[in-house]
Amino acid sequence: MNHKDALSASAPLRDNHLSLKAVAPFGNELALSWSDDLEQFLALEMLRRVCPCAVCCGEPDVMGRGDLPAKNYKANSFELKGYDFVGGYGLSLKWADGHATGIYSYRLLRGLKAE
Ligand SMILES: [Zn+2]
Repeated sequence: MNHKDALSASAPLRDNHLSLKAVAPFGNELALSWSDDLEQFLALEMLRRVCPCAVCCGEPDVMGRGDLPAKNYKANSFELKGYDFVGGYGLSLKWADGHATGIYSYRLLRGLKAE
């Protein structure tokens, strides 16, 4: 046992083998437990606001409209309803307002900082 270097919450992703061991909603935060023993607490509201899906990232829809219905957050838009692990590289978050198209890659999650 010779690695006692303390990881800070903003530790960068060090390798491609990092994986999420556990995910647990914790109040208005999501607790992430990583395979390198880092624990990360991310605010649900912040997670929703950085949703990486095409709708939230501002791509116009097939009709060419530029308005973004998903950006009109509702009262329950920041309530997490569930989550799924996606192919060993990411996490899919399902929100109480029905939005569930965002896949948060491990790399994205590790780059986020608690507010
Ligand atoms: Zn989205």
